[in-house]
Amino acid sequence: MDLIAQFAADPRLATDRAAPPDPAGRCVVYWMRSAQRALDNPALETAIAIANQIAQPVVVYFGLRPQVAHASLRHFAFMLEGLADTAARLVHRKIGFVMRLVDRDRAADEFARFCAEVRQAAIVVDRTPLRAADGWRAVIPAAPGAPVWCVDANVIVPIAVIGREHYAARTIRPRMAAVLERFLVPVGNRRVRVAWAPARAPATLEPSRELLAALPLDRSVGAVSGFRGGTTEALARLGRFIAQRLPDYATARNAPDQDGTSQLSPYLHYGQIAPHTIALAVRDAAAPAQDIRAFSEELIVRRELAINFAAWNPRHATLDGCEPWALRTLARHARDRRAPLYRERELENAATHDPLWNAAQRQMIEAGWMHGYPRMYWAKKILEWSRSARAAFAVAVRLNDRYELDGRDPNGYAGIAWAIGGKHDRAWGPERPIYGTIRYMSAARTGRKFNSRAYIARWSDGPPAGPRARR
Ligand SMILES: Cc1cc2nc3c(=O)[nH]c(=O)nc-3n(C[C@H](O)[C@H](O)[C@H](O)COP(=O)(O)OP(=O)(O)OC[C@H]3O[C@@H](n4cnc5c(N)ncnc54)[C@H](O)[C@@H]3O)c2cc1C
Repeated sequence: MDLIAQFAADPRLATDRAAPPDPAGRCVVYWMRSAQRALDNPALETAIAIANQIAQPVVVYFGLRPQVAHASLRHFAFMLEGLADTAARLVHRKIGFVMRLVDRDRAADEFARFCAEVRQAAIVVDRTPLRAADGWRAVIPAAPGAPVWCVDANVIVPIAVIGREHYAARTIRPRMAAVLERFLVPVGNRRVRVAWAPARAPATLEPSRELLAALPLDRSVGAVSGFRGGTTEALARLGRFIAQRLPDYATARNAPDQDGTSQLSPYLHYGQIAPHTIALAVRDAAAPAQDIRAFSEELIVRRELAINFAAWNPRHATLDGCEPWALRTLARHARDRRAPLYRERELENAATHDPLWNAAQRQMIEAGWMHGYPRMYWAKKILEWSRSARAAFAVAVRLNDRYELDGRDPNGYAGIAWAIGGKHDRAWGPERPIYGTIRYMSAARTGRKFNSRAYIARWSDGPPAGPRARR
């Protein structure tokens, strides 16, 4: 089968123009967006496959946009560390890497300018699940005459294969299980036939500390020391997780005092590691089957259920993305008395009466990552302490996206929708004030499920949380 027919049959790939590469082109351009890695990247492999067929080199383009919402020192430090690692890996693979500074709304124009400089034969772009399914079509004007292929590079089962919004894990799980064997296979890392060696190298920025210092970023959300960005660091974490924590994951994952989870979510969010890399390593690990099963359920079913929600439900970042039964029960309790009632600034400063909640908030602000178990409790209490469910949803999204290294992710919107709006969940009795039949979590019961004293002690010391403490 020739390459075009092969691509057209691959559900990870979409195009408007299944045409051969432009014979006048001098390279294949991969516009890297959310799959920021050189390892196990189906979009990069697609670009290499095209380039090898026409004996041309590959160049990766990255547009750096410091004016987007929540562009902070914390997020950009992590992202640039990752891009430095990726750039070095690309050079090692004889692939070009060019990074340019891009104005907020001019991403496609800047990309078109770059294409005109290097004369693309074909374009590849990775799909970002938070943008409209056809968002990649904005690239097309940049490439008159050249084919544009969009690759779903950050999921195991392609978004198009699932094909519609699913109601819950129990409905998507069998659908995924039926096709998993076909898609959970090594991505492969091809060699390029022709090295990137242009006569005149295009201008590029180095992903360096100097660049970070010069960017117009929100510096009140400081960089964190516990997470270093990059594929190399992600692989090292994966190795340590499999050796030390996977063998007890099914029980230890709900103990935030023990750090029993992989802490790979920031790396997945920036696409610095592929879900394939993690899933295959865990599947083949010498660990008890129940732990492998429990981890795969989170990484494959829950993560891709969240991506399914973001991809097919345009209201995923608001309460309106939740199911009618949940909106009805919350509406019935809209006038219930809320006491205490906290302002956003009090929540942000971890200044509530609840030591467990404050500890979770401090972990997020100081470490840039909150353990998964307190995340559920954290969001539910915001519902209880806010003037409305809608306001609670908005505050939870703002805090999550601002401080979590893995924020602005389908998992965040799905997690908040689950906690506040019963998304992917069901009604629970008895009916309670404020919550109605949305699942409730009490401080006492949550605190008894793990060593909450140790967790609170760990995240209660140090400088006060909130904006004043940001480095
Ligand atoms: C209110 C709330 C907000 C959340 N916000 C985010 C967020 O902004 N970004 C984010 O990545 N996750 C978010 N989650 C989901 C989950 O809590 C985190 O993915 C997980 O805690 C990350 O830690 P880990 O990498 O050690 O997970 P592990 O337990 O090691 O799991 C491995 C991977 O599986 C996926 N995963 C694990 N739990 C879930 C889950 N419940 N739903 C979907 N995928 C999951 C993640 O990609 C994770 O990295 C949120 C959950 C809730 C309830």
